[in-house]
Amino acid sequence: MPSMAQGQGGVKPKSNVDSNDSYARRQKIMQQRKSLPIASVEKRLADEVRKNDIMIIVGETGSGKTTQLPQFLFHAGFCRDGKLIGITQPRRVAAITVAKRVADECGVQLGQRVGYSVRFDDRTSAATRIKYMTDGLLLREALLDPYLSRYSVIIVDEAHERTVHTDVLLGLLKRVQNARSKSGHDHSSADNKKTSNGLPSDKETGARFNGIFKQSQGGKLPPLKLIIMSASLDARVFSEYFGGARAVHIQGRQFPVDILYTLYPETDYLDAALITMFQIHLEEGPGDILVFLTGQEEIESVERLVQERLQQLPEPSRKLITVPIFSSLPSEQQMRVFAPAAVGFRKVILATNIAETSVTIPGIKYVIDPGFVKARSYDPSKGMESLIVVPTSKAQALQRSGRAGREGPGKCFRLYPESEFGKLEDSTKPEIKRCNLSNVILQLKALGVDDIIGFDFLEKPSRASIIKSLEQLFLLGALTDDCKLSDPVGHQMARLPLDPIYSKALIVASQFNCLEEMLITVAMLSVESIFYAPREKLEEARTAMKCFASPEGDHLTLINVYRTSAEFLEKRKMEISTEKSEKLLRKWCKENFINSRSLRQARDIHSQIRGHVEQMGLCVSSCGDDMLQFRRCLAASFFLNAALRQPEGTYRALASGQVVQIHPSSVLFRAKPECIIFNELVQTNNKYIRNITRIDYLWLTELAPQFYTMQN
Ligand code: ADP
Ligand code: MG
Repeated sequence: MPSMAQGQGGVKPKSNVDSNDSYARRQKIMQQRKSLPIASVEKRLADEVRKNDIMIIVGETGSGKTTQLPQFLFHAGFCRDGKLIGITQPRRVAAITVAKRVADECGVQLGQRVGYSVRFDDRTSAATRIKYMTDGLLLREALLDPYLSRYSVIIVDEAHERTVHTDVLLGLLKRVQNARSKSGHDHSSADNKKTSNGLPSDKETGARFNGIFKQSQGGKLPPLKLIIMSASLDARVFSEYFGGARAVHIQGRQFPVDILYTLYPETDYLDAALITMFQIHLEEGPGDILVFLTGQEEIESVERLVQERLQQLPEPSRKLITVPIFSSLPSEQQMRVFAPAAVGFRKVILATNIAETSVTIPGIKYVIDPGFVKARSYDPSKGMESLIVVPTSKAQALQRSGRAGREGPGKCFRLYPESEFGKLEDSTKPEIKRCNLSNVILQLKALGVDDIIGFDFLEKPSRASIIKSLEQLFLLGALTDDCKLSDPVGHQMARLPLDPIYSKALIVASQFNCLEEMLITVAMLSVESIFYAPREKLEEARTAMKCFASPEGDHLTLINVYRTSAEFLEKRKMEISTEKSEKLLRKWCKENFINSRSLRQARDIHSQIRGHVEQMGLCVSSCGDDMLQFRRCLAASFFLNAALRQPEGTYRALASGQVVQIHPSSVLFRAKPECIIFNELVQTNNKYIRNITRIDYLWLTELAPQFYTMQN
């Protein structure tokens, strides 16, 4: 057939080129792998893992820990019997990009031998043996498989980050390892009683472990190998926690980095970063620039500002491209940071603190460090968690500057005076000490750990914050009077991969017949920012937003955006390909000052949680035009975040007594209704609340009598 001949003719030369290309690429990857510091100790590492059930590995960022060690262990036979090597990361971007890289190195398709699994995105299959995932996801897996019986090795990576999930995971893994080493060798179910005696203090857990063990194993489980990896040099806390576990250091390669400070403090660090960036671009030799910013919004606004300033430069100086990387970036866009810029171009990577250690980007010679990071902060006395931008620690500043010296000498521009450096904290406080624990407690309870205060934490959170979180869970109906997980609400909440307050909102919504609306709301609230308003186009952006604005508040406004965009897609899908309609949607988003990345992500999250609630048997229905019903549902769900207007126009949060203000981005900024619920507290110079809906004060006593009485 002519068409076929033509097809073959067209394909053949191309495939030749491809295979040449891919041969060269494979050679290059092999070279790169061989030159990594970790390559020379492959055999030794595998032997150490064979000998020790727990190990701590410390090595400079970029030495090859994350990408190479799992491959070494795979080849050393740790996946025999179909078992998996699991590697946890504190951040989803890291799990995704590293899995892609390793699949590439192994020459396999992603999702086959090498895969990843993060919340709302799973790329694994029955063939997967090396599985990258977030630490939070492994915690969830433990709910279904308390022995983590599918794994022969678990590597907890980036342990120095000390995210709350990492800390809890370490405690859990310690128990699992104990339970497995005790039950693994000689046990059939007959011996189970003995096993339970040997388990750590919590009897309940013992019983639960045994129960599952009897059901699903009934035979041998090999001991679980645990490896804790960290970039920082302080292996001591981990080693002590695991009873003096062996620590191995891997030598890294680090070239000298010139550190430059500003003479005076900067009032606008974004502007200072831009000026520095262009100074480097115009005056310094070749090499890419890495800029540390605090979040998606900041990154996107710098992206736009760079574009504008480039237009003011003469043509030959415009050879600068920006590439963003932050956690919620869609995964296909994340990989762009690794692609080299076109010849003659300089690449500027705009990153959050994920580029400190989590992902190693080749080619960087200059680092711009404004010295800030967005961090969670929690005040147990008020029960409010907030995100605040705070100065980095010394350890973070050092990690950041180190990124400039991976491949040769580099420069780091710290956008603060040298005297400020001395004032920074030595290291970052573990997250478990500065976050709301209700999510973690819910999961521990679901795992059968009832004595939270007695749990063997690497570092104990304060008693006050444990108690406050227990109290919140109780108020949400997740716990019974004697602090056990309630049935069914507590169990349902633990199953949903969301913050307890959102999980509860979905359950409440199914009773209010507005689960459809709440699913959209929760999905839209789970992404960073749907609207964007560039400084120079503020008025246009405001006008665009008015088309979606609901006088009732931001939740309904978000629903309007979601539904309008869904209709937009639906209409076009009939006539043109999905790809084309997606492209049109992006254009539509741009015209309407909507962040298409965030919207897309919200759609993904929506379909995932919809799947979860359907599986749980909740009734997904819509309240139609009855928005009163929906607002009552919001009040019943978010009653812990209710606030009342004060005479001077500020608000008093009822649960915490804090004085807060409506964020200017809210549709209710001017209306200032008397009583509202909100979803987010952001702290800058002021305490701002965002995502707000007007409610009736009296609904609180009616719908949340467990918390509000007529008197207060
Ligand atoms: P570590 O975990 O010790 O910090 P990694 O294993 O993450 O080191 O990285 C090892 C090397 O692999 C890095 O120096 C980096 O240059 C390279 N690398 C990692 N991921 C990618 C990628 N997606 N594309 C290209 N190179 C990569
Ligand atoms: Mg790493």
